[in-house]
Amino acid sequence: MRVEIVAVGTELLLGQIADTNGQWLGEHLAAAGVDSYFHQAVGDNRARIATALRTALARGDAVIACGGLGPTQDDITREAIAEVMNVPLVRHAEISRRIEGFFRARGRAMSPNNLRQADVPRGATVIDQTRGTAPGLICPLGRKVVYAVPGVPHEMAEMFERAILPDLRRRMTEAGEGAGVIMSRVLRTWGTSESALSEALQGRIDALDALDALDAPAQGGGRAGTVTIAFLASGIEGIKVRLTARARDEDGARSALDAEEKEVREVLAATLGDIVFGLDDVSMELAVAALLVEQRLSLGVAESLTGGLIAARLVGVPGASTWLRGGVVAYDSAVKFSVLGVAEGPVVTEEAAIAMARGVRRVLGSAIGLGVTGVAGPDSQEGLAPGTVFVALALPNGVTPSRSLRLPGDRERVRQYSAISALDLLRRTLRTPEHGFEAPTLG
Ligand code: ATP
Repeated sequence: MRVEIVAVGTELLLGQIADTNGQWLGEHLAAAGVDSYFHQAVGDNRARIATALRTALARGDAVIACGGLGPTQDDITREAIAEVMNVPLVRHAEISRRIEGFFRARGRAMSPNNLRQADVPRGATVIDQTRGTAPGLICPLGRKVVYAVPGVPHEMAEMFERAILPDLRRRMTEAGEGAGVIMSRVLRTWGTSESALSEALQGRIDALDALDALDAPAQGGGRAGTVTIAFLASGIEGIKVRLTARARDEDGARSALDAEEKEVREVLAATLGDIVFGLDDVSMELAVAALLVEQRLSLGVAESLTGGLIAARLVGVPGASTWLRGGVVAYDSAVKFSVLGVAEGPVVTEEAAIAMARGVRRVLGSAIGLGVTGVAGPDSQEGLAPGTVFVALALPNGVTPSRSLRLPGDRERVRQYSAISALDLLRRTLRTPEHGFEAPTLG
């Protein structure tokens, strides 16, 4: 069963709102094991909506049209559907009564336009509205179907779950298709490029393609579930490696994902090192927090060009007070010298970052100190180009791991990249058992 989505609304085309309905439907169709290969957005224009519906019906078995079911003149989805079905609109007496009752109950005058929402293409059935006034529609076209739902996200979602998904399931059963499920898992990486990732995983992707070809005739997934790998560049949050499994049931999909995650982690660890910092919604700061909690270590941060970005990310983690001592924004060189004890001289150096990490550890009494200094741009500083950044740690055993970085982008990106790079140095260090310092007890 192939389902296409047609999002109706000129505001979508003008970029005034994002098509979150398409996103939501995509996610829920995938979870239900329904293929969806195309999404369209179309303005409030009857001819173009009809074209979008015809295009979707030519490729797919079912279409979900969302938006344009309201009472105003630019809400013309039902007219476009009637045109595609080649039937007239018929006013539905029961819906008319309900709409009138809706206004009466609220003591509001009803403009006659509202009754347009009771117009139904002949042959369609109605999805009762439980939240607003516009009902949804199930419009059969031979063996195919167009579902129409309001654009308001919670009304759309409620109708999808109550009426559309059960109807799709029934159609899939009738067509002899096992529904199956599609589940995804995201491995989040930092510190490598998309091309390096895809090169490292090419062998794995080829192996999965070969397996998929073997399993292709099995609707709803093969024996162990089929898996695909995709990359999503996510800007300042790194690159995501998304594993998607299709299987007969949730257990099958989960075990296929478990097995593939293990394979991918092994390949990446062997080729690119410790670049996976978390799964799904685990941000870099959450990964760092988990390690600090596990090792009972506290942290203080000294920030120059990031100006508090690192501390702000860390404070966003619930329970940060148990391990975060605080931060010093040492932006002016004089503050680096007087507050953190950095030696007078150039302040964009690896030594200065180390001195900042040591200084903040001492001043705030934390187990670990983290220091960041660099040139955010747009101008050079101390003869160094924008994007020149140094990050350093001061560990309880006196060891001071540090990194010199050349980060791309404008001022904002350099600052954001610096923050996540500094957190990643801390994460990698905490994950290295041989960092060898004795974890002190938190006070
Ligand atoms: P109503 O009966 O409430 O008028 P409708 O079917 O006419 O619903 P629209 O007028 O197209 O729906 O959209 C109503 C609101 O729903 C929009 O202002 C917008 O905020 C939201 N909306 C519409 N389409 C989408 C979409 N694809 N993604 C996210 N939000 C949407």
